[in-house]
Amino acid sequence: MIQIEDLTKVYRMGDEEVAALAGVSLRIERGEHVAVIGPSGSGKSSLMNVLGGLDRPTGGHYRFEGEDVGQFDDDALAGFRRRRIGFVFQSFQLLPRLTALQNVELPMVYAGLPRTERRERATALLERVGLGPRKSHRPTQLSGGQQQRVAIARSLANNPDLLLADEPTGALDTQTGQEVLALFRELNAGGLTVVLVTHDKGVADQAHRRVAFLDGLIVSDDHGGKA
Ligand code: ADP
Ligand code: MG
Repeated sequence: MIQIEDLTKVYRMGDEEVAALAGVSLRIERGEHVAVIGPSGSGKSSLMNVLGGLDRPTGGHYRFEGEDVGQFDDDALAGFRRRRIGFVFQSFQLLPRLTALQNVELPMVYAGLPRTERRERATALLERVGLGPRKSHRPTQLSGGQQQRVAIARSLANNPDLLLADEPTGALDTQTGQEVLALFRELNAGGLTVVLVTHDKGVADQAHRRVAFLDGLIVSDDHGGKA
């Protein structure tokens, strides 16, 4: 599904250059559940942002199901993000003035889905993440774990091929984090490809595969015999 080769991402800050990704090659097959681990600043988010089409690499190749994402223009990249990718962030990134239902509907608004279909699908997604009864609540009326569930429902709105989660439990207590992770495992068991960044070794151990970063490079890639 994903094939990256010698990927680099260089940030320029004044005269200084930081190689957030220093030549990364990685293949991920459809249906995998991959944990990306490594210390802060090692390039994990930079990788996720490139995989999700939120950012462009400085060099190297990125192919997604055979398509050369690196060659996409801005419109093609936006379409790629909308149709193929679900993104979940540590800070939820919900719109505070919208209800849970409206937050989940939003990607379908951009995708041009008719209102009735949107509403039905958003309702079903919120039920799927256990938040049916909370669909009219705004983010501030929900706990962190509930907000992250809304964000997960939203990430599924346009039926993505790949779910990317960048430290999705970073702002949650352990118990709530476990519940959110169980949801990712369930989605993966249903066939969705999941790539999840985490600091937490216990969390990483629940994935089929662990890819460890250090200084912008992959330093280990461990299938742990489970994949
Ligand atoms: P991680 O997610 O593993 O903490 P990041 O990918 O966020 O790592 O960052 C990798 C390196 O790139 C760090 O040194 C970070 O400071 C730098 N970096 C990340 N984003 C930017 C940016 N927008 N501008 C400048 N430097 C950045
Ligand atoms: Mg990060």
